[in-house]
Amino acid sequence: MIVAIANQKGGVGKTTSVISLGGLLVQQGASLAVDLDPQGNLTTGLGVEVADDQLSCYDIITEQVDVCDAVVLTKSGLSLLPSDITLAKGETEILTKVGNFYILKERLEPIIDQFPHILIDCPPSLGILTVNALAAADTVLIPVQCQFFALKGLAALLETIQSVQRRLNPNLQILGVLPTMAEMNTIMTQDVLASLKKRLKDTVIFEPVPKSIKFSESNLAGEPIHLYAKEAKLVQPYQAIAKVITASPHRSQE
Ligand code: ATP
Ligand code: MG
Repeated sequence: MIVAIANQKGGVGKTTSVISLGGLLVQQGASLAVDLDPQGNLTTGLGVEVADDQLSCYDIITEQVDVCDAVVLTKSGLSLLPSDITLAKGETEILTKVGNFYILKERLEPIIDQFPHILIDCPPSLGILTVNALAAADTVLIPVQCQFFALKGLAALLETIQSVQRRLNPNLQILGVLPTMAEMNTIMTQDVLASLKKRLKDTVIFEPVPKSIKFSESNLAGEPIHLYAKEAKLVQPYQAIAKVITASPHRSQE
């Protein structure tokens, strides 16, 4: 199952969710995280530095390289297709290519069978990289920060998902919305949760991830949250999603 983690709003917890979920999924079988963001935060957050001779997502989307040669095994056991800022150049290079929406899907094809779970960390934009992720994915997880203006931009994201469903990937589903950085005792968090439930009646709203400095610390340590902080309340929301992902039937494509 390929899961795109997307929201064009920046800093909502996409990368943190990929690291946390990936760390749990790898306990169930080989799992791959794809850093599709030129910021390379997932790569750094998993403790990987892209060396000059290391193939990255830039090479994967711009050349016919063998994707297997780009996979790096990180210390938590999660495999990674790393990225750095050169991916920004790659994004421009593929803009004029025919069929450019399907490049990532094609490139992942040879390793799909090796990895029962693939998570794609999207950049904070609705550009060609995010569309490539949505075209390759079976389902999309939408982290939403429990903050003012949290729902602003959600309509644009849902529209993009719908147009991808219509034109590029009819099998694409929405796994659900994940409220992040929740402070349950605040009016703001309660407001965001109520608005999400009201606006997205047919969408699963997962158990909110609490706000905790432990997430930033675990990113710095290059470790998923369940290894860094053994606090059940921080890990539980991600465990619930991992359970849904592992319980889902095998990919329905082709
Ligand atoms: P971008 O759009 O820039 O890629 P993002 O959506 O991937 O950002 P993250 O990088 O995961 O967001 O998170 C943004 C910041 O918030 C990071 O410093 C991260 O450590 C922190 N953070 C993530 N989740 C939580 C949480 N539950 N509680 C507190 N801080 C968090
Ligand atoms: Mg990110």
